[in-house]
Amino acid sequence: MRGAFQGLDHAQVWDSHAHLAGIGDSPSGIYLNPRMNSALNPAHYLRRQFFLNAGCAYDGEGGSIDRAYVRRMLRLLGSLRAGMKLVLFAFEKTYGEDGKADLDRTAFHIPDGYAREVARENPAFFEWACSIHPYRRDCVEALEQAKKDNARAVKWLPASMGIDPASPLCDRFYEAVARLRIPVISHAGEERAVIGTDLQEYGNPLRLRRALDAGVRVVVAHCASMGEDRDTDKGPNGPFVDSFSLFARMFDDKKYEKNLFGDISALTQTNRARFLPGVIEREDWHPRLLNGSDYPLPGIMPIFSVRYLVSLGLVQESAGPILREVREYNPLLFDFALKRHLRSNGKALSNSVFETRKFFETA
Ligand SMILES: [Zn+2]
Repeated sequence: MRGAFQGLDHAQVWDSHAHLAGIGDSPSGIYLNPRMNSALNPAHYLRRQFFLNAGCAYDGEGGSIDRAYVRRMLRLLGSLRAGMKLVLFAFEKTYGEDGKADLDRTAFHIPDGYAREVARENPAFFEWACSIHPYRRDCVEALEQAKKDNARAVKWLPASMGIDPASPLCDRFYEAVARLRIPVISHAGEERAVIGTDLQEYGNPLRLRRALDAGVRVVVAHCASMGEDRDTDKGPNGPFVDSFSLFARMFDDKKYEKNLFGDISALTQTNRARFLPGVIEREDWHPRLLNGSDYPLPGIMPIFSVRYLVSLGLVQESAGPILREVREYNPLLFDFALKRHLRSNGKALSNSVFETRKFFETA
């Protein structure tokens, strides 16, 4: 465990991908689609339980679940090292092309204001990322305000929020994020953790080229490591290929070497781990990779399996028992220590992948 922290400047270690969640039982302004709350809609209901259980935000822990969720994160961070922080994500509503919010198709909404306040109240532990829909009429004003309020990034989940990153409707927003030098962290590839509009093709990594060509710094969440997308470089009816391979094509494109980044959150999940060896061994990629935990997901048993990673030869067998034990107490420490101990053909993820603060502070 001690080895996991060695060689790092802890004040530079920001977890670039963490979800703020709750149910809106505090003045947070969190909106949860009533369908998410209903056992009559099992898919929504299970997802909600899944998220909150993973964050250990149980009812009865002194009232508000919103507050319990934050307290739990603070406790977990308190047992890491001073200086290490989480970048907490707000979560935007779904919008239509008419620029109007569509609450019916919104699974949940974590307002920017709430993420900002949680970060402000706990400056030693949290930074925050806003989430602003580019079709909103006030998207530029909202972004300018968020920048003033020290938002470190913009978070998008295109398929769920109804954002087509390749749409000209985004251009006004792209101009603003490029001018204000705020990175956009966008999910790409298949997304199962959250539901919304089911416009999976909006998650095609190739659609982010429009943002890149506009000079936006883009972080592709999870390096698009799940699902398949159409290879539209081979025409509108191109074949479906691994989303990751489309991400890799763009990542290797010299044109984007200054503004395309990837986060390695969730890459250790069982259904994504087959891409890990390539990512670990491509040392030339490391300067543009950012570590993130995708908290609270590392707390969820079935989707992370240390045994599986050991079987792939990515983790030493002797490290297995302690990693499994740590996970029961501190999923953040588990995720961090696991990634620090990954090896593939004698190579490891570089320290720079974990020291992400400079990325967010580079104007
Ligand atoms: Zn995530």
